[in-house]
Amino acid sequence: MYDYGDCHVCRGHVLEKRIKLEFWIKGKLVVVEDVPVGVCVTCGEKTVRAPVGRRIAALLGNAKHRRRARTMTVPVIKFESQVA
Ligand SMILES: [Zn+2]
Repeated sequence: MYDYGDCHVCRGHVLEKRIKLEFWIKGKLVVVEDVPVGVCVTCGEKTVRAPVGRRIAALLGNAKHRRRARTMTVPVIKFESQVA
C-alpha cells in the first residue's frame, strides 16, 4: 500500500480508503466511486495521489464514460432558514 506519510494538517496517521468523490462538471454533479484516497484518521483530511488525480481527470473528461454512467437521484434542499 502507498505510504501517504503523516497528515499535512495535523501530523496524524493517514490510511488509504476507497471513497466516493463528488465533482461539479458544467453544473452537473458527477460522483466517482471507489477512489483510493489517503484519509487522515484524526482530522479526516483527504490526500489524492497524482496518478489517481490524473485518472479521475481522464474519467471526468471522457464524455462517453459519462453517458454510459449509471445515475442516481439526490435530494435537493433549499436553504430557507434565517441566519442571524
Ligand atoms: Zn489530519
